[in-house]
Amino acid sequence: MASEEGVERFIDEAKVDAVLAAGQDRSAAHVREVLAKAREMHGLDDADVSVLMGISDPELLGELFDAARFVKDTIYGRRLVLFAPLYVSNLCGNDCVYCAFRARNREVTRRALTQDEVANEVRVLVEHGHKRVLLVAGESYPHEGFNYVLKCVETIYQVKVGRGEIRRVNVNVAPLEVEQFKALKATGIGTYQLFQETYHRGTYARVHLAGKKRDFDWRVTAMDRAMQAGIDDVGIGVLFGLWDWRWEVLALLQHIRHLEARFGVGPHTISVPRMEPAIGSDVASHPPKPVSDIDFRKLVAILRLAVPYTGIIMSTRETANLRRETFALGVSQISAGSRTNPGGYEEEDAKKEFEAAQFQVGDHRPLDEVVRDVASMGYIPSFCTGCYRLGRTGADFMDLAKPGDIKQHCDPNGLSTFMEYLLDYASPETRAVGDALVDSVLAGMEGKPQATARKLVEAVRSGKRDVYV
Ligand code: SAM
Ligand code: SF4
Repeated sequence: MASEEGVERFIDEAKVDAVLAAGQDRSAAHVREVLAKAREMHGLDDADVSVLMGISDPELLGELFDAARFVKDTIYGRRLVLFAPLYVSNLCGNDCVYCAFRARNREVTRRALTQDEVANEVRVLVEHGHKRVLLVAGESYPHEGFNYVLKCVETIYQVKVGRGEIRRVNVNVAPLEVEQFKALKATGIGTYQLFQETYHRGTYARVHLAGKKRDFDWRVTAMDRAMQAGIDDVGIGVLFGLWDWRWEVLALLQHIRHLEARFGVGPHTISVPRMEPAIGSDVASHPPKPVSDIDFRKLVAILRLAVPYTGIIMSTRETANLRRETFALGVSQISAGSRTNPGGYEEEDAKKEFEAAQFQVGDHRPLDEVVRDVASMGYIPSFCTGCYRLGRTGADFMDLAKPGDIKQHCDPNGLSTFMEYLLDYASPETRAVGDALVDSVLAGMEGKPQATARKLVEAVRSGKRDVYV
């Protein structure tokens, strides 16, 4: 199944169909057995996942959410990592029916930022307080080809504004050859992220009408090539709304197991984008298999239990309320203050945003407001980039995460980077909420993590920046 040549066949459709068709024991007693197993934090098998996907009783649903909360708190502590997407170009040669950037869409204004324009966007993000960006582009680059992406990453890392800079660039661009992945790694990227959109071949063929992206196998094997090229941290995902979410979750788990079997480590993150309206796309406004809010919460909770050590990313596609609810269920990273049109941060022009954005965001609040909200819920808004800069990536990160030790690093680093934000960028209201949170979190910590966190926070208060363990 996972041979070099036949690597693309690791998504076994018949097996997914069989798991969904199997008559599972869905009694309350069995659901509770599965939830008890999930709380041991060793993950779940397909049959377990299928049992949880079938829950409809409100009481059991509450127990599912409690289990997800328990696992999230135990492994990840109270931190929530923040980032901003940076759309550098909306040029694209593909025709994905759900996306505003698709080649045949005449309603979108096309633009690829120059390196100066990229730097201007980064300046705005740094001035807002961001430390991590996700570079995003359509699948067609200006005349210099793929080098454009490499240059963009370099430009992002070069920008310094006052005491701030971007410390981790993650990248979401079309699948690459191994040699290109090596070049991308050499620029110092963090995670390479790519969504399969749908793991269901028939659906995939129906929604990808032209261009290189029509090739399912080229896309589904992208993470194999990235990992072969030495990129340890990869991020996978499904565009929910194209095909049955239950089917997609089981197939996504097959992808994860394949990477674990072949490379000894699974993906660093899973993204769960739901389809949003996009200019020039009827499909985006009427997803063929819409996922309800309740199912969406369920799928986040199930992923948290099925793969406890993999980060889950929630973007601003979702509304503020739904995002709030999913933090507790297992989300570990969120975007904030996002624009999905190239040049959108510097220009702040609603008309241009409408005409050039990839999709409409559901959470429009600026970073400061999101930070305040996250902090007032008791989570530590974290801008930490420590793991990747200390080489704790791939299997090393997982080894650390598995016994729950990551909290020892994440909470102190989260607090120190949050303190940087409070001192350098926060509004007075956010500063007040944040200072109170830092004090209460520090008081509630114990032993070595507490001593480390106090030391780091004090270092930042006394003027140091970029301190981490
Ligand atoms: N062009 C590259 C690709 O397709 O992989 C990378 C960038 S693409 C802009 C990033 C992701 O946006 C896609 O993988 C897709 O999942 C998501 N996307 C596209 N249209 C969307 C929509 N209408 N709503 C939500 N997400 C969307
Ligand atoms: Fe292009 Fe990516 Fe949009 Fe497809 S999803 S049209 S490849 S930008």
